Amino acid sequence: MPLIDKFNREINYIRLSVTDRCDFRCVYCMAEDMTFVPRAQLLSLEELTTVARCFTELGVTKIRVTGGEPLIRKDIGLLFEQLGQLPGLKELNLSSNGSRLDQYAKTLADAGVNRINVSLDSLKPERFRALTRTGDLTQVLAGIQAAKAEGFKRIKLNVVIMKNRNADEVLDLVNYALENELDISFIEEMPLGSITEHDRKEEFCSSAELRAIILEQHALQPLEDESAGPSRYWNIAGHDSRIGFISPHSENFCSSCNRVRLTAEGLLLLCLGNEHSVDLKAILRKHPGNDQMLKDAIVASMDIKPERHYFNHDDEPQIVRFMNATGG
Ligand code: SAM
Ligand code: SF4
Repeated sequence: MPLIDKFNREINYIRLSVTDRCDFRCVYCMAEDMTFVPRAQLLSLEELTTVARCFTELGVTKIRVTGGEPLIRKDIGLLFEQLGQLPGLKELNLSSNGSRLDQYAKTLADAGVNRINVSLDSLKPERFRALTRTGDLTQVLAGIQAAKAEGFKRIKLNVVIMKNRNADEVLDLVNYALENELDISFIEEMPLGSITEHDRKEEFCSSAELRAIILEQHALQPLEDESAGPSRYWNIAGHDSRIGFISPHSENFCSSCNRVRLTAEGLLLLCLGNEHSVDLKAILRKHPGNDQMLKDAIVASMDIKPERHYFNHDDEPQIVRFMNATGG
């Protein structure tokens, strides 16, 4: 029996956050001074694999490992190895900031990782440093090349667009993606966690505005949606790259939602923009080895998956957790 929620959406995709920690402090994702979850409260690699196995046995075919920055977690190679062996899994993907990708590209390829998304908000070294607060652009670009050299296909860049901070680089980023045969998605910033460096309302830039900028140089053509998901894709004649737009404010995508998220602390989140959750860690630790209890809780959680998120520019963020805790 597949996992189906009250709104008849089939859930076949889980995003696993393996740590809330990160070597970057992106201005839209974290406060400069963060308190992270104590390590003992994180799921162990074994617990993460158990949850992933239960989900695949319930029909989930796609897993994305995310965080925080997954590649800073100790022994992360081992987790990929174990996830890569799960029967029934069709896609094992990673979201990374790229800082350690040159070091890990081979391990990931050997473990059977299918696709990698890399966050890249600027091609200007100083601006990149300012937006990530700690990041080194050269290192990230080297990571992308290392992943390409390892044979990864359809590597995707994720760009959070802020009107006054990086929207002027939209064409440069598209051209970089085209030259390097990468996909690229532009994301509208979401009101998750409270940030201090900029006013999210003032920085809002809609996907439609971005498409207008890109159209000045390239003839964008909409692609038929291949996969359920928040990105709407376009392409440019003569290029294989897909140009995506994730528009949580301007183009609601909840009706085709096929995913749930597990926080690094083992909380199953049913929606990015709502608080509905189930504590899977409590079950894992109270009843170790009892997969059936875990599966029953997962099946029951389908009943509380909300219909949609509501993001509002005028309010304080209703969701107090940052994206690094959510597992973006
Ligand atoms: N560290 C990895 C990375 O940066 O790709 C994985 C985790 S990160 C939380 C996943 C994605 O969430 C990144 O593409 C990041 O840009 C995005 N993100 C973080 N905070 C966001 C926010 N407030 N609104 C929109 N996207 C956000
Ligand atoms: Fe770290 Fe990714 Fe958040 Fe940036 S977006 S602070 S890289 S988790």
